[in-house]
Amino acid sequence: MITTQEDYLESLMGMKKRIFMFGEEIENYVDHPMIRPSLNAVAMTYELANDPTHVELMTAESNLNGQRVNRFTHLHQSTQDLVNKVKMQRLLGHCTACCFQRCVGMDSFNALDVVTYQMDQELGTNYNQRFRKYLAHVQEENLVVDGAMTDPKGNRKLSPSQQTDPDLHVRIVKENEDGIFIRGAKVHQTGAVNSHEILVMPARSLKEADQDYAVACAVPADAEGIIYVVGRQASDTRKLEGGRIDVGNYQFGGHEAVIIFQDVFIPWEWVFMCREYQYAGNLVELFAAHHRASYGGCKVGVGDVLIGAAQAIARVQGTEQAAHIKDKLVEMVHLNETLYACGLAASYEGRRSPSGTYMINVLLANVTKLNVTRFPYEIARIAQDIAGGLLVTMPSEKDFNHPEIGPLLQKYLVGSDEFPTEWRQRLLRLIENITLGAGGVGYLVESMHGAGSPMAQRIMLTRLADMDAKEAYALKIAGLVEEG
Ligand SMILES: Cc1cc2nc3c(=O)[nH]c(=O)nc-3n(C[C@H](O)[C@H](O)[C@H](O)COP(=O)(O)OP(=O)(O)OC[C@H]3O[C@@H](n4cnc5c(N)ncnc54)[C@H](O)[C@@H]3O)c2cc1C
Repeated sequence: MITTQEDYLESLMGMKKRIFMFGEEIENYVDHPMIRPSLNAVAMTYELANDPTHVELMTAESNLNGQRVNRFTHLHQSTQDLVNKVKMQRLLGHCTACCFQRCVGMDSFNALDVVTYQMDQELGTNYNQRFRKYLAHVQEENLVVDGAMTDPKGNRKLSPSQQTDPDLHVRIVKENEDGIFIRGAKVHQTGAVNSHEILVMPARSLKEADQDYAVACAVPADAEGIIYVVGRQASDTRKLEGGRIDVGNYQFGGHEAVIIFQDVFIPWEWVFMCREYQYAGNLVELFAAHHRASYGGCKVGVGDVLIGAAQAIARVQGTEQAAHIKDKLVEMVHLNETLYACGLAASYEGRRSPSGTYMINVLLANVTKLNVTRFPYEIARIAQDIAGGLLVTMPSEKDFNHPEIGPLLQKYLVGSDEFPTEWRQRLLRLIENITLGAGGVGYLVESMHGAGSPMAQRIMLTRLADMDAKEAYALKIAGLVEEG
């Protein structure tokens, strides 16, 4: 069982994955300077679980084996579990200031449990039993599982079976008495190369013609036929320069990758949906709801770091007393806490599903995420306002260390003389990282598109808002209908 950061790193070293980056296949990805910060962020999900201060948030009593397990592998058994999940995510945001990559797997487990149970009730299948057996193994080993939903999709107007290339959504290409073979790719996969296993799911509702695309299954991350191509991030090669300051957040980061499945074999015991196309849409919606509420925790944690950096840079530059700066900091807090309030409300309003696993309130989860597509951008804008132009014009760390120009830069780029120039350098680089650099992948664009682009949330609000009831209230108050 993996319990410490060291166990985690060792467990990955034992896996033989095919990983490409910058046109080269990487042998030792665990020590690669561009990947290591993202491993450190995942490792924090193990480390904090060993800290007595955080054990209540970071672990939960499993309904599968009665043991305390890492919350990232847990099926929520109460609204308190849902609340604790959001609190755990905020905590991890504080400790890493980036995406810590384990949430997609957790949110997938909770959606799959509900949907496989429903399938078994209605179809007489045994997917839920299979899935719970699989999850018990994940809990016992304490594994990192990549939640793999998003397909490349090709022409967005066309369904999977209508695409010119049938491989643009993951599909079953063959089956035999031992299992199935899948082909296709999943894109934007958070923490992909840091995972032990991949949980593949469909990414949209499907019709009968698309039934080969209705597949949910788990596969070891180093299975034969799987290839990873790690995505680029803004300023990513700064991690190769050897310095610490210019990276902004030198210890932690996230990563995404394209995962390509070349006719990968999955044994039947790890198959949780096989052509039951009628259930694909529900699975996507329930996963998305959990994941949309998750952002009311993780993005808030990173937001706290950014607000703290904005206050600190104001102090370092001598603007902290100005009324407009204080007001801007309050505005950042207001926006950030609104996101948290939404994440908590969606959790407190959660309900037990027939499988016993608790579902988030879907309407409020979508409100949370729709706010997340906007507020971090506004928080980032204010942080850039407070930071000043040096945020994007500051010379490199190497210039600050140069024997001739270094002292000149120290002299001319100082803020308030209570603080060394290096404070200004480090805080500005941190704000740059979160609002413009690699950290902005997790804080901004993931806020926009992760768990679905804003329109997906608006569609859910339209569907769930019960507009007729609202109109009826108004008609009654206006005296347009009889009291009844
Ligand atoms: C940083 C990051 C991390 C992520 N992590 C994961 C992960 O771990 N696992 C995972 O499975 N996914 C992950 N995702 C994927 C995420 O769920 C998708 O990005 C999201 O669903 C949007 O899909 P897309 O990127 O293909 O954009 P598109 O779907 O192409 O959307 C782009 C725009 O086109 C619009 N659009 C799309 N289709 C239509 C249509 N048919 N008609 C009209 N308008 C349309 C959208 O509303 C949007 O405005 C991640 C994404 C990001 C950015």
